[in-house]
Amino acid sequence: QTADSLFIINNFAEKFFTNTLFNTDEGRDIGLSYFKERGFREATIEKFRLGYAPEARTAFTDEALKNQFNKELLLKTGLIVERNGSLQDNYRGRVIFPIHNQSGKVLGFGARILKANDKAPKYINTPENEIYVKSKILYGFYFARQAMDKADECLLVEGYTDVVSLHQAGIENVVASGGTSLTLDQLRLIKKITNNLTIIYDGDSAGVKAALRGLDLALEEGLNVKLVLIPDNEDPDSYVNKVGASAFIDFVQKNKKDFILFQLELALKDIGNDPVKKSELVNKIAESISRINKAEDFTKQQDYIKQSADILHIDEAGLHALVNKYIR
Ligand code: ATP
Ligand code: MN
Ligand code: MN
Ligand code: MN
Repeated sequence: QTADSLFIINNFAEKFFTNTLFNTDEGRDIGLSYFKERGFREATIEKFRLGYAPEARTAFTDEALKNQFNKELLLKTGLIVERNGSLQDNYRGRVIFPIHNQSGKVLGFGARILKANDKAPKYINTPENEIYVKSKILYGFYFARQAMDKADECLLVEGYTDVVSLHQAGIENVVASGGTSLTLDQLRLIKKITNNLTIIYDGDSAGVKAALRGLDLALEEGLNVKLVLIPDNEDPDSYVNKVGASAFIDFVQKNKKDFILFQLELALKDIGNDPVKKSELVNKIAESISRINKAEDFTKQQDYIKQSADILHIDEAGLHALVNKYIR
């Protein structure tokens, strides 16, 4: 009941924001110009139902109250907030990314400030409520589902704009986590469609850390996880706009790493030149590789041995022998 009402309000708000974007001077001059400067085409903006929330203090509030929506429910959606005893819009002078569920209904919104500064958060998102449960949401899932199924692969990025730009470039099997670590619910959503997950995160350190946190869970779910980091100071959005779709796909194909090998590289960086620690690491990886069932996945095991030996700068035959020792 409450859920239904929240969907109705969000649907109303989505229309309000898209209408403001396309059919008001402020929306076109500020919001639409912003999207166009980022390289978003109109068809893309329409597909993702992107919008604009005007600067005026009560533009949406007035419309919503005029339509007899219940105050408590409006507050729940996070579209409206109470300040000093009066109601006002929560998103003001921001561009809007609606977030849809599996059947295209609006769960909530991400609202981006036009010019990033230290005073206000870059994005404001819907607060947790009956329908917006962050840990269960993957932005773009509704638009990516078919392509994920067809490609038998899910590309996972951090942000709204990464999803939108990759779609526009024709890479449609993309969803976003919202920059946090992956949850079990999100992984299970992906697993309903495909077992192959390729994580493409921002090159900054926050992105790397966020990526690593999700990995153990993904493994336990039996997903085949690959990882790609976009080079320094770029993210999938900026990178695909810089190099184009086919170079982007090439980059991902060439640089996607198995997560075990990725962790190995990271561990190796930490160790530096300490021979004792390196020997410990070699033993640890040998043991991990030995756990891959040889009968079932012989080539996978051989691959791991070869690539790990490469990364560690050790003899492949030696590592092979060590792995065999753990098997027996
Ligand atoms: P843009 O290109 O517009 O700067 P982005 O998606 O590259 O956006 P990042 O800083 O890389 O932004 O963050 C990745 C994602 O994390 C965002 O798309 C958003 O979902 C989420 N996020 C970022 N900053 C915030 C914030 N202050 N509050 C809530 N969520 C945020
Ligand atoms: Mn980032
Ligand atoms: Mn970005
Ligand atoms: Mn980013």
